[in-house]
Amino acid sequence: MLLMKENCENCQKVLKQDSTEAMICSHECTYCKECVETVLNRICPNCAGDFQPRPTRVSK
Ligand SMILES: [Zn+2]
Ligand SMILES: [Zn+2]
Repeated sequence: MLLMKENCENCQKVLKQDSTEAMICSHECTYCKECVETVLNRICPNCAGDFQPRPTRVSK
């Protein structure tokens, strides 16, 4: 199961499990969409992987 980090690793923005702004790379580095697009240029600074939107998980 994916580890659901709840903050952007760049700006510490809160990314809840049902957030549609969360992006993850193949190594599960987690950033907000804004940082991925404007700061990181869609390349992970930790592992040079590219990003996918994180699937949302709705808690019931
Ligand atoms: Zn961010
Ligand atoms: Zn990464």
